[in-house]
Amino acid sequence: MKLNQLIRPHLQHLIPYSSARDEYTGDTGVFLDANENALGSLAGEGWNRYPDPYQKKIKMKISDLKDVHFSFIFLGNGSDEPIDLLIRAFCEPGKDAILISSPTYGMYKVSANIHNVRIIDCPLTPDYQLDTEKIVDHLKDVKLTFICSPNNPTGNIFDKKAIKTILEKSKGLVIVDEAYIDFTLEESWVSELKNYENLVVLQTFSKAWGMAGLRVGMAFANPELVSILNKIKPPYNISGPVQKLISSALDHSERKNEWVSHILAQRNDLAEKLTSLSNVVKVYPSDANFLLVRFTDARSVFDKLIHDKVIVRDRSKVHLCDNSLRITVGTVEENELLMKSLKSYE
Ligand SMILES: *Cc1c(COP(=O)(O)O)cnc(C)c1O
Repeated sequence: MKLNQLIRPHLQHLIPYSSARDEYTGDTGVFLDANENALGSLAGEGWNRYPDPYQKKIKMKISDLKDVHFSFIFLGNGSDEPIDLLIRAFCEPGKDAILISSPTYGMYKVSANIHNVRIIDCPLTPDYQLDTEKIVDHLKDVKLTFICSPNNPTGNIFDKKAIKTILEKSKGLVIVDEAYIDFTLEESWVSELKNYENLVVLQTFSKAWGMAGLRVGMAFANPELVSILNKIKPPYNISGPVQKLISSALDHSERKNEWVSHILAQRNDLAEKLTSLSNVVKVYPSDANFLLVRFTDARSVFDKLIHDKVIVRDRSKVHLCDNSLRITVGTVEENELLMKSLKSYE
């Protein structure tokens, strides 16, 4: 794969913004290069300085944790930022296309729409797996293929062989969105980066790590691709306080693992309880921290839950998700309130 042939022509020779912090990377010195306020910051110690544009400290820790080389890591303002940057870097508005398999995460489509990039949808099969044949038929027409695994909102992970086939037959990039990877026993595609130079893996600090409010997502890809994303991103896309918070959170990944075990136990418990309700048609198997549940009449269940101030996601208008609600696993107490509301309506 030649990234230089895939990238939008006007970006091939883009000269990126050169920030003051690009030219000198030492930690100490007299910094008179960035027009900051040398006297201090009203927000507290240290925030008068621009943050590290490449978030090196965080990337070192992620590199250790995930056994992936530093140069394969890109950090964005949520994983929504790399989704947007990939479309911006590779898809010519009004000409190029991306491929998605609905029902799936909404941002691929929204980002493509924002940039006037065509969307080719190869919907999942009725058992919520990738329609590999159909996808392969369309690979020649697209620059980017988005695969969300475990998938939102169906909750399941996709067959590894199917993704391999797509990676092998694709002339463009294949993006595997692993926002929910912590909740499955299956292995991450990060370990396959060495074998597929057209693979991009997305992960996030928003779900298992409990830091949705900080807005940090990870993209893993070959260094050449990472450098393209670095060229077109806003120079200081992760703020200083956020870098500091993420960095210290990374020293406590065992806490994240404990949460995951707890959430998985609660998920299984909740699935069992939901299955026993008379108006539940099906609780779909989940590799994530939520359950997709088919009811006899999802809309009225949704309204009853809202009335009791329990908010879930109504997916019943979404392709292949008739009468289905997506329910995030909450705390023990929250799950009890959910069940209480549902039982009183049954
Ligand atoms: C929640 C979610 C994300 C996370 O997005 P952030 O911008 O990192 O918060 C990404 N992909 C999928 C499929 C999700 O469900």
